[in-house]
Amino acid sequence: MTEIRIWQCENGHVLGMVARNGSGVNQLWIYRQAIDLTDEEPVAPDVMAILEGYVFDIRCSVCGTTRTWFPDEAALERLLARARPGSKAGSGEETARVGRL
Ligand SMILES: [Zn+2]
Repeated sequence: MTEIRIWQCENGHVLGMVARNGSGVNQLWIYRQAIDLTDEEPVAPDVMAILEGYVFDIRCSVCGTTRTWFPDEAALERLLARARPGSKAGSGEETARVGRL
């Protein structure tokens, strides 16, 4: 199942979309030009690059604000769970322990 979410700047312009690849890694498909959905004739999406991992200060071409992208926290947690020997990711016990931290 492919999961796609739009990724916007703080003023609601669409900077790109986030898609999960076959390995469960979130990727950011960044558009060459941000899309202003309130525009009468929004520009067509033009994917400039596909990014994985942290990317700092992606600038919105409409309003100039910047936003930092990082893979989602769920992916990070899975990574951490895998790195801990003997832990069972996703078990109720694990969730409870994280909750008390
Ligand atoms: Zn913007």
